Amino acid sequence: MVPGIHRPAAVKVDLGAIRQNIENEVKHLQPKQKLFAVVKANAYGHGAVPVAKVAAEAGASGFCVAILDEALELRRAGIVKPILVLGVTSPEYAPLAAANNVSLTVPDLEWLKDAEKELRKEDLQLKIHLAIDSGMGRIGFHEDREFVAANKFLGNNKSFFVEGMFTHFASADSANSDYFNSQVKKFNHMKSLLTVKPKWIHVDNTAASIFDKKVHSDLVRFGIGIYGLNPSSNPDGPDLKADIKLKPALSFESELTQVKTIHKGDGVGYGSTYVADGDKIIGTVPVGYADGWIRKFQGFKIKVGDSYCPIVGRVCMDQFMVLLPHEMPVGTKVVLISNDSKAPNNIKAAADYVDTIHYEVACLLSDRLPRVYYNK
Ligand SMILES: *Cc1c(COP(=O)(O)O)cnc(C)c1O
Repeated sequence: MVPGIHRPAAVKVDLGAIRQNIENEVKHLQPKQKLFAVVKANAYGHGAVPVAKVAAEAGASGFCVAILDEALELRRAGIVKPILVLGVTSPEYAPLAAANNVSLTVPDLEWLKDAEKELRKEDLQLKIHLAIDSGMGRIGFHEDREFVAANKFLGNNKSFFVEGMFTHFASADSANSDYFNSQVKKFNHMKSLLTVKPKWIHVDNTAASIFDKKVHSDLVRFGIGIYGLNPSSNPDGPDLKADIKLKPALSFESELTQVKTIHKGDGVGYGSTYVADGDKIIGTVPVGYADGWIRKFQGFKIKVGDSYCPIVGRVCMDQFMVLLPHEMPVGTKVVLISNDSKAPNNIKAAADYVDTIHYEVACLLSDRLPRVYYNK
């Protein structure tokens, strides 16, 4: 999708906030602990390359991405620090990763055997991290026997350099630590089976680090915290308190492209889910679900000028309408998502409104929205 640079709608990213969030986390690290900045999915919608460059300056020792293409994007941009692909990459691309000094995740023994064949053809050595499924049920070794066999396979195997071993928590963001502790126990057990010596053994995501979970981790895979967002998912109460200061980096802004008065009985949008019961002033915003601003936002209040105004009618693919309290000129500023965490349209409030998490709201913002960087 082409970015719409001739339309007044953009995602604004405060790189100064990103820098501060990382610096705050670096100060909070334990002795010898390192920070890997998680910039997968285009840095959670914020833009992978600009975020990674600031992260490197602010003290990140390396990066995590989800897929190999994201790692190659960073390499093409001149980033030389370690990069780990967190997902499973097809073994046929092991040589491509090795040639670009990108570390891959190992999900199982069969993957190792297949990757070895590919690496031997080109006489390359690949850096790997052994994934442990300690209870996420997603990727990694789960059975003792297979993990022991993989360790044996790796002993003196020149095709691989065992850079890491890691697991991922399902509920580090929760006040209840029972499941978290069961994962730690399983991971420690798998660790006791190691015969190879990974350089980094790592478990922490943002939540495990900033809620001070009692677990050892050589690296923090710092994701959502970079963007200034608290990962706590506590539907029944306030967020868990983060141990570091977080400043949201993302805002989403547009402008009114038309303002008009409609009259009693006039509908707004597909299916006329809003019908005026008298004279109403309606503003049009040139953003829609093709930008990731989903239909569920109908009814959500966004800031237009100085007022918070409800979205009326269904959100269309490329436009939606708001109910204005009074006449406002075309070109009036519209803030769909505020980077002020106290504003009623902050990203967490937006996510709550559409029954999801802020991670998803940020990732959905599509490539049609230019990313504009400030406080560089
Ligand atoms: C996405 C991801 C992270 C980062 O998680 P945050 O909650 O954003 O800090 C860390 N580790 C793995 C394996 C991930 O997939």
